[in-house]
Amino acid sequence: MTQHFASDNNAGICPEAMAALKRANATGHELSYGEDRWTAAVCDGLRALFQTDCEVYFVFNGTAANSVALSAMCQPFHAVICHELSHIETDECGAPEFFSAGSKLLAVEGPLGKLTPDIIEYTATKRSDMHFPKPKAVSLTQSTEVGTVYTVEELRAIAAIAKRRGLNIHMDGARFANAVATLGCHPSEITWRAGIDVLCFGGTKNGLPVGEAVIFFKKELAEDFAWRVKQAGQLASKMRFVSAPWLGLLENDVWLRNGRHANAMAKRLADHIGGLEGVNLMFPVESNAVFAEIPPPAQAKLREKGWRFYTFIGAGGCRLMCAWDTSPDTVDRFAADLAKALHGLAPAREAAGEARGRGRR
Ligand SMILES: *Cc1c(COP(=O)(O)O)cnc(C)c1O
Repeated sequence: MTQHFASDNNAGICPEAMAALKRANATGHELSYGEDRWTAAVCDGLRALFQTDCEVYFVFNGTAANSVALSAMCQPFHAVICHELSHIETDECGAPEFFSAGSKLLAVEGPLGKLTPDIIEYTATKRSDMHFPKPKAVSLTQSTEVGTVYTVEELRAIAAIAKRRGLNIHMDGARFANAVATLGCHPSEITWRAGIDVLCFGGTKNGLPVGEAVIFFKKELAEDFAWRVKQAGQLASKMRFVSAPWLGLLENDVWLRNGRHANAMAKRLADHIGGLEGVNLMFPVESNAVFAEIPPPAQAKLREKGWRFYTFIGAGGCRLMCAWDTSPDTVDRFAADLAKALHGLAPAREAAGEARGRGRR
């Protein structure tokens, strides 16, 4: 079984989601466009999970979830405050601006891939004239694009500023499960109980074949959302095959188990490679991502051995993503190959002679 570290969306479908998909295919005809009982069961399941009466929609991918959700919060003359490394800013090809018919993303800096209350306050208040788009939303990514996690307190502090400035809060939860697993909190504590208005709950990277849930805790924002989803080309006629696999994730908290496992593999990977000479971990490993600076010749050797990983994502460096099915053996083999690749390199500094001796062995 081939595994590598390019992305958690390189993994397949987890067995529980697959079983639910098959069950949904075994009952004959069902009503289309989300009128089926599988979709109803998943919506109820998500309401039970979050312990609140939220509105739930399903779309095909994260780009659509984020973009269409943001379009429900903003008029074309509004703006969204987001991190400069956020997926909506760097990886969605302008879809948030497109679906909102012009809302501008205000991408700002923040430590460890996170927005802070201060930067939000500054950005929301620096202009109030009609010549600049009016900030109307904050978008947070949990866990972040660099693998860090907002704490409950950080979210509450951001929400306090956002509410004061009349900003809706959107959470890109492509890796929401990983964040909950790290914090060990109830999912409601980092969403509506902390002041989050809309969550894009990622299923794909957690073990689904396809599909993300858009969950409105502030229900008035969901007004006419069904029409937005349809117009965006995101309404699945055979909705049950997008929704039913969620049942596999929800039953027995498989989503959380998957998140925990991916996180544990990232920790294992960081433990194995963090101490290697020449390797520098760039961020605290708080979810399922490890970002590491690795000398380019060693990267080349890893690639020769078939390992896949990206170097253009986030703040640069090598991004090593662990998935729900990443095996300890895959982690250990990668770490061993990296150690070997580093060993063979021409050493840069005083330890040259000694390292060269080691390299020949
Ligand atoms: C993967 C990802 C998404 C969703 O991407 P799609 O390819 O559109 O499904 C959204 N946000 C973040 C932070 C992601 O990593």
